[in-house]
Amino acid sequence: MAVSALGHGHPALTSAIADQAAAVIHVSNLYAAPPVVALAEGLTRRTGMDRAFFCNSGAEAIEAALKLARRYFQVVRGESRFRFVAAEKSFHGRSFGALSVTGQPKYWEGFEPLVPGARFVPYGDVAALEAAVDQETAAILLEPIQGEGGVVIPPPGYLAAARAIADRAGCLLIFDEIQTGFGRTGTFLASAHEGVRPDVLTLAKGIAGGLPLGAMLHTEAVAEAFVPGSHMSTFGGNPVCCAAALVVLGLVGEEGFLALVREKGAALMEALNEGLASVAGVQEVRGRGLLVGISLDRPAGPFVSALYERGVLATVAGGTVLRLSPPLVIADREIEHGVREVVDVVTSLMDG
Ligand SMILES: *Cc1c(COP(=O)(O)O)cnc(C)c1O
Repeated sequence: MAVSALGHGHPALTSAIADQAAAVIHVSNLYAAPPVVALAEGLTRRTGMDRAFFCNSGAEAIEAALKLARRYFQVVRGESRFRFVAAEKSFHGRSFGALSVTGQPKYWEGFEPLVPGARFVPYGDVAALEAAVDQETAAILLEPIQGEGGVVIPPPGYLAAARAIADRAGCLLIFDEIQTGFGRTGTFLASAHEGVRPDVLTLAKGIAGGLPLGAMLHTEAVAEAFVPGSHMSTFGGNPVCCAAALVVLGLVGEEGFLALVREKGAALMEALNEGLASVAGVQEVRGRGLLVGISLDRPAGPFVSALYERGVLATVAGGTVLRLSPPLVIADREIEHGVREVVDVVTSLMDG
């Protein structure tokens, strides 16, 4: 699920967790625990953002981002903006706010009415985005690459166009990098690929190597939106999780680490392309870095189940896409092993 960025049992990760657990496990925000402050500093430096809010999951980071955007306009700017423009086939989480901006009606079933104010546009369509944004829009919310929606990479220039549309309309731009961030796509942020800086950024999944942590980062320009008491989380920014995240941040930041992610991702895609080239029913292998999707002409569920049986963990994305998001530290021989199993399973199930 793009969480175990350093695999299992990484010694630097486990000892940082043990050391922090032995020191202090929880102080909430009553005191500023050193790993929490260090992580806020490290993440803001790394992402070009100015402020950090920590929580326990991706959905909570999205909730924080949505609340920040509304409160910024309603309290700081005195504008009645409340709408969110998001993409069809997006995924932002399963709490009510996050679910309400998730453009996949199948996830809404049985939970309506949702939080009002969301509007959906086809992903990658600049004209549709432009048309949907108006004086009531508080924020545009986009994944730089749609993960859950099927590893969908937008056309070049889309993120920059979204930035320009938000600036013209005077609304905020939120990038959800919960899945694509923290080096997953071979750059620290997937949005860095287009050099676009959002106003608000969400991170989670791989951030703490498997411990629960989410982050909502934002620029100084919107910082007045939250004052003490506006928003908070009892467990958010747990020192143990933050100590773990510092290890991941340090490793991903080491010279050459992200280049290796790009190389491994390219090798993975090339091997898959080679192995699956002549298999009918395989439409495309696509991705960036170590976020890879194999697009099939049928539901991917049975393929994922067959891979579980062989000890290879893949996921279904967008219904018909087999998604691979292995640890960022995956070894070449593990890539070869995984590719062999995937090619074998896809070939035999397609034939059957
Ligand atoms: C997984 C995911 C979420 C939700 O994160 P949770 O930790 O499951 O709440 C939100 N946005 C994106 C892009 C995701 O991939």
